[in-house]
Amino acid sequence: MGVEVWWSSLTAADGDALTLLDATERARLDALDSPADRGRSLVGAALLRVAVAARLGVDPRDVAVDRTCVDCGRPHGAPRVVGPEHDDVRRTVWVSVSHSGLLVVVALGDAPVGVDVQREADLRADAPAWARHEAEVKLHGAVTARGGLIADAPDATTTPLATPLAGYAAALATAGVPGAVVVRHWPGPDGGPVGDADDGTA
Ligand SMILES: [Zn+2]
Repeated sequence: MGVEVWWSSLTAADGDALTLLDATERARLDALDSPADRGRSLVGAALLRVAVAARLGVDPRDVAVDRTCVDCGRPHGAPRVVGPEHDDVRRTVWVSVSHSGLLVVVALGDAPVGVDVQREADLRADAPAWARHEAEVKLHGAVTARGGLIADAPDATTTPLATPLAGYAAALATAGVPGAVVVRHWPGPDGGPVGDADDGTA
């Protein structure tokens, strides 16, 4: 299965999303001071579960997410999906999460991925270039967090992504050429995930 990019927004930060999170994720939210930060983190954690669950055919609550920081051991590192059948290599999913302003994005693949979104108004720098840089940093971080070396992803390819709102820039980094990128939006009109067949690259 190829790379999927899932988009959501702060408007999805509601009680339904909260029911998808585990105790560790809820504690992380409680520790955040800003309501906007809480909302983005809530949607990011919920969207990650929804996207992985749809790919694996499991319930979002059954997806085990490990955010153990490789530096200090606290649960604020880049997420890794460690279940529910993490011993089965075929079901390993590589994930990356980013949020900025109103937008939240999750990328999933069978190989390492990195995704980044930036609200242009938040940056003095060139937003598309910054998003490309951050996506590559996340790709390499995902590899090293699993005990690999950056050299394991030597052919990093960075692709601009179309964003669902104007005023944002986003990029996807993959090890090698990603092929077709399937873009999905959550929640869909009926409250469930909706798959678009379009190629989401910009
Ligand atoms: Zn740390």
